[in-house]
Amino acid sequence: MSAGTEIPLVERVSELRDAVEAARAQGGSVGLVPTMGYLHEGHQSLVTRSAAENDLTVVSIFVNPLQFAEGEDYGTYPRDLERDRKMCAAAGAGLVFAPSADDMYPQTPITSVTVKGLNAVLEGRVRPTHFDGVATVVAKLFAMLGPGRAYFGEKDYQQLAIIRRMTADLSLPVEVVGCPTFRESDGLAMSSRNVYLTAEERPAATVLWRSLQTGRDAVVQGSRSPDEVEAVMAAVLAAEPKASPDYAAVVDAATLDRPDVLDGELRLLVAARVGRARLIDNLGVDCARL
Ligand code: AMP
Repeated sequence: MSAGTEIPLVERVSELRDAVEAARAQGGSVGLVPTMGYLHEGHQSLVTRSAAENDLTVVSIFVNPLQFAEGEDYGTYPRDLERDRKMCAAAGAGLVFAPSADDMYPQTPITSVTVKGLNAVLEGRVRPTHFDGVATVVAKLFAMLGPGRAYFGEKDYQQLAIIRRMTADLSLPVEVVGCPTFRESDGLAMSSRNVYLTAEERPAATVLWRSLQTGRDAVVQGSRSPDEVEAVMAAVLAAEPKASPDYAAVVDAATLDRPDVLDGELRLLVAARVGRARLIDNLGVDCARL
């Protein structure tokens, strides 16, 4: 372990367990915040929550090759470990775990965690191998650390649903905590990939949030037709010349199934490319509370 001025950094999987065991031996609870780094206030909100609820908060920073397909941005994903360490320390983390890909995957894994069905809809249609990579690395992180709680953002809503289901199906002794999406003042969900947006593209990126709000307004005003709600969301996306939409969908918040008639807790989800950035966002609507 190398102790920087800000926060201890563990880079070797073999050293992680000892570092975490030391905290646990003193009766401490351990919270995990898995990230790919290039942190922002959204990530920090997860760290703050974990630090408030656990004695030791570990932030993992790992750009996971398994969840990127050929042609995606694995090689160019933004990285700044020193800045990330400062942000982790400022938010109350006790340890940063930043392994190399070789250390994480000493041999090409032939074991994979597949959360069937949930991995194939929405993002899974566009990125068919993505969620198996996510579930596999999160299962590995759970096994390496043995956290009592792990914190995930609603920003990646499908990912959160998949991790919850994997944890339940495999009886993993981890409480999965979902945390609300942090946004810029104009509504754009914070994302490490926002750095790809040029100054001209940046205003256009709010189209995802505008689309979600339009969809929610339609439900609030009484629409119970998924086709109708998706159509108004898609129209907002289509009206932005700098955006190439992937999908605009309304699903059941728990199952991610598309209902015939809108009812109960819903989730509206959108994805679009703006310039080099592929952006996703989502918003909840509870019909029972309208
Ligand atoms: P990432 O580094 O993008 O893999 O994200 C790491 C964790 O931070 C995931 O659980 C994300 O859902 C969460 N996260 C990313 N952006 C936000 C945001 N704007 N608000 C809240 N959580 C976020």
